[in-house]
This record gives sequence, C-alpha cells and structure tokens, in this order.
Amino acid sequence: MAGMYAVYHGPKGLKKIAKRIHLNAAKLEKKLVDLGLSQLNEYYFDTLKININAQAIRTEAEKNEINFHYIDKETVGIAINETTDEVALLKILNVFEAVVRQKNINGKVKIENHRYPIDQKRRSPYLTHQVFNSFHSETAMMRYIKRLERKDLSLNHSMISLGSCTMKLNAAAEMLPLSWPRWSSIHPFVPKEQAKGYHKMLRRLEDQLSEITGFHATSLQPNSGAQGEYSGLMVIRAYHKSRGEAHRNICLIPSSAHGTNPASAVMAGMEVVVVKTDELGNIDWSDFSEKTEEHRENLAALMITYPSTHGVFEANIKDITGKIHACGGQVYMDGANMNAQVGLTSPAEIGADVCHLNLHKTFAIPHGGGGPGVGPICVAAHLADFLPQHPVVETGGKASKDTISAAPWGSALACLISYGYIEMLGGSGLKKATEMAILNANYISKRLEGAYDILYTGEKGRTAHELIIDCRPFKKYDIEVVDIAKRLMDYGFHAPTVSFPVAGTMMIEPTESENLEEIDRFCDAMISIRMEIDSGEEAGIALLKNAPHTLAMLTADDWNFPYSRQRAAYPLAFVMDNKFWPAVRRLDEAFGDRNLICSCTSIEDYAKA
Ligand SMILES: *Cc1c(COP(=O)(O)O)cnc(C)c1O
Repeated sequence: MAGMYAVYHGPKGLKKIAKRIHLNAAKLEKKLVDLGLSQLNEYYFDTLKININAQAIRTEAEKNEINFHYIDKETVGIAINETTDEVALLKILNVFEAVVRQKNINGKVKIENHRYPIDQKRRSPYLTHQVFNSFHSETAMMRYIKRLERKDLSLNHSMISLGSCTMKLNAAAEMLPLSWPRWSSIHPFVPKEQAKGYHKMLRRLEDQLSEITGFHATSLQPNSGAQGEYSGLMVIRAYHKSRGEAHRNICLIPSSAHGTNPASAVMAGMEVVVVKTDELGNIDWSDFSEKTEEHRENLAALMITYPSTHGVFEANIKDITGKIHACGGQVYMDGANMNAQVGLTSPAEIGADVCHLNLHKTFAIPHGGGGPGVGPICVAAHLADFLPQHPVVETGGKASKDTISAAPWGSALACLISYGYIEMLGGSGLKKATEMAILNANYISKRLEGAYDILYTGEKGRTAHELIIDCRPFKKYDIEVVDIAKRLMDYGFHAPTVSFPVAGTMMIEPTESENLEEIDRFCDAMISIRMEIDSGEEAGIALLKNAPHTLAMLTADDWNFPYSRQRAAYPLAFVMDNKFWPAVRRLDEAFGDRNLICSCTSIEDYAKA
C-alpha cells in the first residue's frame, strides 16, 4: 500500500502533499500564537508543541471527539497530516479558544517562511524511476495494479502448497471488517475507553490462543514469527535473570530449524549450539543428551519446531523437553507448524514453556509480500510476568522491561481475521481443520508413492500436515529440484517449498482448504512431471530444463525444441481450462543472493564529479 501510494502520487504529488501539511501546521501555529500561547518546537515539519494546561485541553478536546498527545501536564502535542483539512483545523483552534476564553479574530493568515532549517531542504531528485511518474489517474493506476496481479500465480488461481507456510484460505467473511473505518481508523494510542470493542476482541483472541496452546497468557505485540521468537527468548532471559541465573545463555537448536531460529537467538544475546538430526529426521538423541549435559550449567533454552520441520511428530518429544527442564533450561516451541496441532495436542502438552504462533499461517491472515504478520507469543504461568510491555499504553507483564513493537498490540487490525476464523470455526471446527490438513498431506503422500520417495515418515509410516519429497535421485538425468518447480508453472501450480529444510527436496503442504479435485490435479501434475523425467528421452528432459514456457516463447516464429508447443503449454487436459501464463522464463536462481552486485554509479563518474 505504501509503495502504491508513492506510485500514484509520484514525486510531484508527494511534495505537494508535504507542502500542504507544513503550511497547515504553520497556519495553526500562527493562530495559536495569536491567542497568546507559545509553540515550543524551534523547527518542525508537521508537529506543534503547545505550552498549556494539558488537562483543560484534554477535557475540551474529548468533548469534541479530538485526541491530542498529552506530553506532560503543561505540554500538548498536535500532529497535522494530509487528512487534516480546514474544517479540522478550525475545530482544533476552537478547543484552544474555549480553554483560553478568547476568540482568534484575525481572518486568513499568510505564511511566508517555512519552519524547518533551510539547509536541510532537499535539492536532489527522488522517485525518478518511470514507475513513479506514469500512473497518476485512477484508470491508469487500476490497470497498472491489474497488470502486476496477472503476473502473480496466487491462491485465486490454484493451490499454493508451500510447506511450512500454511497457505490456507483467507475467507472473505474474516477479512471484511478490515475495511470498516471503526476498526481501521483508530490510532493505537487512543485512550482505552475509546476502543472498548477493540480491547474486547483482543482480549478474547488472547484467551483463545492461550486455550489453544494450553498456556497461561498471550502477547499480541510481535509482528511476525521471527519477532515472536525474539520476544519469547527475551522472556526466557528475563525469567533466568529474575532467578539470579543471568549467566544462562546457551540456546540449543536442531540443525533442521528454520533460519530465523538461530538469528533470533543471536539477537537475544544467546550463543547457539546446533544439535544433529538423525536419518529419520528426528533429533539425534545421543548428540542432544551430550550437548545438554555439556552445557548444563549455562543452558538457557532449547528451540524446537513441532511437528518438526521434516513434517513428522517426533515420538520422544516429552523426553526431550523433560531433559531440558532437568538441566534448568526452558523450552521454546516454534509454532509455525501449529496447523498440525490445533485441537489435537498443544505446546503445553508436549512440555514447552513458550511458543509463538504465526497467525498469518495457522490462523488465516493472508501473507506473502512481507505482511502484515502477527506472531503472538503464548507462555506458561511462570513466564507471564515477563511478556512485552509498552511505554505509552499499559499492557504486558508486571516485571517486563522489553518492548518489541511500536504499537502495543502489534498489527491489531489484522487480528480481526484470526479472531473471526476462531469464532466462526469454534473448537470442533478448528480440530476438524487440523484433521483435514493432516489427512490431505497423507493423501498426497500415498498418491505420490512410487513416483517420488517421501523423505521422512514417522514410526507409523505417516506424515504430519506436510511431506518432503526427494528430488535428488533425478540428478542422474541432470534434473534439479528447481527444474521440477519451474515445470509446475506450466501446469498452473506454484511450486512447493524448495530445498528447505533439506537441499534438493520439495516440501508440500496442502492445508485443509483444498478440495479433493484440486489436490488430485496437483498430484496428476507431479506424476506427469515424473513421467516426463522417466521417459528418458531427450524431449522429456528438455521440457523441464526449458520450463517455464512463456507466451512469447510459444508464439515465436521459430521453434527449435524437441517437443511440440502443445506439450509444452498444455501437458494435461485440465490445463486447457485454466491456463496460467508465466511472465518470465528463468532468472538466475540464487546467483544474485550470493554475488553482490553494485548498482551505484561507476568510479569514473565519481572521479569526474
Ligand atoms: C515461517 C516460519 C518462521 C518465521 O515466521 P515469520 O512469520 O515468517 O517471521 C519460523 N519458523 C518456521 C518453522 C517457519 O515456517
């Protein structure tokens, strides 16, 4: 949204908006000064600081449904933005007039000088890219957004089986309230009594999440799973410290963990010790015992994902959590895989002390493109006092010193989606969703048997809510896992998660939201790709190597490939009906991630300047 705001207004539009905001702030200052008040900011862009009895202003302002920032007893902060129009300015002025019992009788004011240091005025160009200088009418903007949308293989086209990401339905009924101004136009710092409905919803959601995880208390403050990890580890640190054990700083993490786990541990000031996993995908018990004993004195925590990132319910999970507790450590459960637990088991049940939930995975908030995420943490009773607090709005644990986000309840608006999801499904519905998610994964596992090796299954030959298929055996045909991922686009499917947590594999998570027909189409595509590989003929391998096939490629005058255009574009009958056209062929995979490319001007240009 922020990006599109810049695209729509462009550099000229943004400057015009900024000038108007500044002018309105200066006008208001002039009028208030005319009333005999002092404005305390030497320089400002949009924010005034007025010296006046704050309580008197507050009483008058609240009568008029206006909130200011009450900095202290004698100081009131006023921030002007692009929605503050002439009417609003007048209303603000009236509040101050009522308190000083005076009317500003000067008419229009003329502002000549700006109120920021002139040497800080920007002179260099900005937003020079064409995209910020092209779409300034609603028609043009609408078409631009649609054009981008067409390039995106999203859930409105077909199943996205990204393992560990839980790409489930984001139901319209859950998302509707986000566009209601009564939810979307409230500032996170408004007095509690002005947002009673919000607080009721947030409290209920906290209680629901506590109940689902079996824990005592929940904080909605973290804005992502990774931020939840960080908050949870800070809670663990504060807990150790409160018991005079601040030296505990070792965090055990299995080698299969998501990359955010060690990153969060390091950010929380812990030292990471990696624990091996065995060939079945479980924690290697002897390595685990050894390292736990070795670090017994300084053990802070174990971070563990359950069911594991290998998609399996680890059978001896309680032995693992028990051993950590026996050594004085705490157990952090990464809750990204909660879609396999809700209603069936819980983090508290397996012996964890704290977990995060990804509400943008398990609890139906849409994700992709970076947000908005909600990554609450839920904790056992002994940790509740250390939940994140907030310096402006009262929330969190009694003994807490840490604040994780700017807003006291993080992405509060997006919480409505999860709240709606939980309320509408109820306990039995949530449990059924979990059962369906596990059933769907196991159905795929059985259908793909023979075509692909399923890498890990538990003692009973089953997976949890996702499965990992091994693509390494195809290396002998020169086929890599990415070739399969690219070819899936020709069949109209987004690739599953590639090379996590095991390089050369795919992790498939169908979720409960897909019906049997869609799951069967996906399996048909995967089996058909396997047959292309297996045919052993040059054409089959080339089909994968050249995938995805774009419209430009297929309609070009020359065609030099050892297979037909039809086979490339419509490999199965159902694709005819619902064709997705990939917009580009291949970019160079991870090359750009591994090779820094300098996009600045050349040294010669600098020399000349
Ligand atoms: C997604 C995920 C995370 C990180 O969550 P974000 O919300 O993306 O920050 C952590 N661990 C696992 C296993 C995950 O799948």
